[in-house]
Amino acid sequence: MPFLPSRLFGIIGHPLGHSLSPLLHNWGFGHFGLPGVYMAWPVAAGRVADFMTAVRVLGIEGVSVTIPHKAAVMAFVDEVTDRARAVGAVNTLFWRGGRLCGENTDVAGFVAPLRGMGDLPGTALVVGGGGAARAAVAGLKELGLTEILMTNRTAAKAETLARDFGVGCVAWETRAERAGGLVVNATPLGMLGKNEGLSPMPTGSVGAGAVAYDLVYNPHETVFLRDAAAAGARTVTGLEMFFGQAVEQFRLWTGLELPRQEGMALLRAALYGEGDGA
Ligand code: NAP
Repeated sequence: MPFLPSRLFGIIGHPLGHSLSPLLHNWGFGHFGLPGVYMAWPVAAGRVADFMTAVRVLGIEGVSVTIPHKAAVMAFVDEVTDRARAVGAVNTLFWRGGRLCGENTDVAGFVAPLRGMGDLPGTALVVGGGGAARAAVAGLKELGLTEILMTNRTAAKAETLARDFGVGCVAWETRAERAGGLVVNATPLGMLGKNEGLSPMPTGSVGAGAVAYDLVYNPHETVFLRDAAAAGARTVTGLEMFFGQAVEQFRLWTGLELPRQEGMALLRAALYGEGDGA
């Protein structure tokens, strides 16, 4: 008897580019023997309303939402979770009791590796002022850190974000002076390509006692993480956040927990050619 997937999931964005989500979620369906398939749907900005009709007409069970649709889909769901409302963006569509809901699993994904750390610093500096920074600050507030500070190249954006979340703000030029706790890179600095040789923090500014958390996950070790580790800081990679947000999506869609060891190995094999991805 041929395998006929009957449960439809997928990702929308434009341009979609290369996404790891189809690999991970399709692997998850196979792992649990679920009849699900996860597609990649490049949907142009003007077609979001049509796509959301398709979700309801076709009974699409779950959707990952990426740039540029994270705010636009909010107008077409029945409910937006508190987390997604706080961040101002939805990255996941799921159904509850016949209602189509929008969630932001980047917050849970960001927090996941930090919950596993026994002695987290009490203070944090988030570098950046875009969507990833908003998810990070929402997560840090959930963790209850005593002091959360923002900084961004364009000060006005950091000030708006700080006001929205009721956190502090420091000038870009003075950020190195506030880097003694958890320091989060929520900029594309360090990412493969034109930014690869760059770090959001001056060399040596994040050292012993600090935790450097880079949301960039390709390459595996960014300049920011390499500098911080050399200066004695603990490090967390953005792949942990990516995996964590996908785990939360899969849980919302299926009630099941993607296995961490095998899932991370699959992602590392796809991204960095490590191991055999088993
Ligand atoms: P975004 O909305 O475009 O924001 C980018 C931020 O980076 C802006 O605040 C921008 O500052 C700053 N920036 C860009 N180039 C800079 C430079 N040369 N010098 C200083 N600051 C610079 O992007 P985003 O969606 O927040 O994503 C940020 C990063 O997080 C990306 O690398 C993305 O891949 C990563 N991310 C990772 C995950 C994960 O699961 N690990 C999830 C989401 C995002 P200005 O305001 O001055 O322009």
